[in-house]
Amino acid sequence: MLELTLFIIMPISIGLLIASLHPIRIICKDQGSLGQEYAWKGLGLLIVLFIIGYILYSYALYQTGIQSLDIIIVFILFSGSCFVLAVIKLSLISIKEIKKISILERHHALHDALTNLPNRVLLNEAMSGAIATSKRNNTPLAIMLMDLNNFKEVNDTLGHYYGDRLLQSIVPVLKKSVREIDMVARLGGDEFAVILPNANLDDAKLVATRVINAIEQPFTVDQHVLNIGISIGISQHPDDGADCDSLLQKADVAMYIAKRNSLGFSVYDLTRDKNSLTRLIVLGKLRNAIANNQLTPYYQPIINLQTGKLHALEVLTRWHDEELGHIPPDEFIPIAEQSGLIKQLSAWVLDASIAQFMQWQKLNMNFSLSVNLSARDVQDETMINDLRMILSKHKMHPNQLNIEITESSMMLESNQPHHLISELNQLGVSLSIDDFGTGFSSLAYLKKLSTQSIKIDKSFVIDMLDDRSDEVIVRSILDIAHNLGQVVVAEGIESKECLDRLRDLNCHYGQGYFICKPLPAEQIFTWLQENCKSDVDVERKPTIIHSV
Ligand code: C2E
Ligand code: CA
Ligand code: CA
Repeated sequence: MLELTLFIIMPISIGLLIASLHPIRIICKDQGSLGQEYAWKGLGLLIVLFIIGYILYSYALYQTGIQSLDIIIVFILFSGSCFVLAVIKLSLISIKEIKKISILERHHALHDALTNLPNRVLLNEAMSGAIATSKRNNTPLAIMLMDLNNFKEVNDTLGHYYGDRLLQSIVPVLKKSVREIDMVARLGGDEFAVILPNANLDDAKLVATRVINAIEQPFTVDQHVLNIGISIGISQHPDDGADCDSLLQKADVAMYIAKRNSLGFSVYDLTRDKNSLTRLIVLGKLRNAIANNQLTPYYQPIINLQTGKLHALEVLTRWHDEELGHIPPDEFIPIAEQSGLIKQLSAWVLDASIAQFMQWQKLNMNFSLSVNLSARDVQDETMINDLRMILSKHKMHPNQLNIEITESSMMLESNQPHHLISELNQLGVSLSIDDFGTGFSSLAYLKKLSTQSIKIDKSFVIDMLDDRSDEVIVRSILDIAHNLGQVVVAEGIESKECLDRLRDLNCHYGQGYFICKPLPAEQIFTWLQENCKSDVDVERKPTIIHSV
């Protein structure tokens, strides 16, 4: 009886060992890419040896008969076989779980959470692949960059919930409008990109037209009917560039032209479009100018209109290029913003102007420094840390610094401006809303933002003595600001009469060509020496050195 039991157990044990070879085969296939299949193959070989040994041992038992020690050995071998199978099965389950998690993690890292579309990282990966295929097979390839029109208005008027819902409902429409082989990616905000493999210019134009028509149909999100549009820029490989960055950059230039001229879509064209060429040249030169310290901070005084004392110096950056000549900030700041260079530019301006300011501080001059930041900086979460580092590098007290942010960048789609404002407040840096009156600012917004001052845009101040509606606007802004406890700075004071009028209206501070033009450090120092000893005499027109 015992013999029979043993002779049944032994084939079962061998069966278990053979069964464990199958999961090993699956694992080996799976682990191939990780380079661990050799370890598992080794384990498989050991099990095969185990099986052979077991069969030989069984045969020997069959020939010689069973001794008492053999009973123990057979049971040990049986347990060993069960153990091997269990361990290998469990390993397979764990490996499958880990694989599932890593697939999910890779998906998260490569996809946008809101729309589940590929993100910028995956787009770059896929574009590199598409470029390689296009090169190898000599096939065309087009890239489309797309930006929604009026999306900001949806966010501003209905809130982010509807903005997000709108983006989600646009995705299936976009996907339906492109071809099956095309990849649609979301780059952030309301910006999308499409890779069009094997598409010549006519194909790309056809797809772009389909996308425009589809997006122009009204979207219904809950009970709201939303009308939006889209601007598309198209670039082609290899004509417009040989790598992802240059193709995207060219598509960006084309999109910029499409948006500015309300064209729907525009194809990048180096020879025809001088503007885009200039923009690219400017971009390249600007990058060098920042890296090589070729920008110059100019300073414009902001004075207390009631006392005539100097209150602050506003930093206004100037750029003179040997070939291009003087490029005004209104031209290079938007280019820096669109290309991502603004981070370096803002850091440079802060660093250079604070270094200069600390030199003046040694002379016990009592005023603060006011630096402009752009809408992109406001969106940048690392901005506040950069600022902290620059302040501590120069040992500047945060309350000596004021940051100017335009009204329109305060109204961006995300909550980031509010984070930045509260972090600046915590740090002790004061904040002004620049160009006030030009955006959509609502009074509710003013109340919500904990800023310290408002700068009335110069377009209202310059003509306020001649244009009645401008004066009404200036007076209303002053009234609101006084009631909300905000300090007001009027910019664009070009005459003594204007300055007097603003003083009578109880405007706190002012700046403008009448007081002093923006000047480079050495010249502003002369101005400071002449005007600060006896405080600034607002009755007297200070010497103006025409520098710009
Ligand atoms: P802003 O911040 O509103 O600066 C005031 C602009 O008005 C400056 O132009 C200044 O030169 C000009 N201005 C001052 N007083 C008068 C006046 O009495 N009459 C007239 N007509 N204009 C006056 P600017 O320097 O050309 O700068 C233009 C804009 O470029 C600035 O407007 C600011 O938004 C931006 N900007 C300048 N430098 C920087 C910078 O370093 N970083 C950033 N992010 N933006 C900057
Ligand atoms: Ca400003
Ligand atoms: Ca301004």
